Amino acid sequence: MSNQHCPGFESNKTLQEIKVKCPKCGQEKELFSDELNKQVTCSGCGATYDPAANKVA
Ligand SMILES: [Zn+2]
Repeated sequence: MSNQHCPGFESNKTLQEIKVKCPKCGQEKELFSDELNKQVTCSGCGATYDPAANKVA
């Protein structure tokens, strides 16, 4: 163990997986918590919606 100080890349963000549901057709979709502020396009019906307002509990 000699390389203790190797900055490299810090891809250790803790991203949470979040399940959301299309308000139109009910299709569920999983995304990461950093995508909650983007609009989601439903793969079922093509609608776009706000994932933060449509989380599945
Ligand atoms: Zn849909």
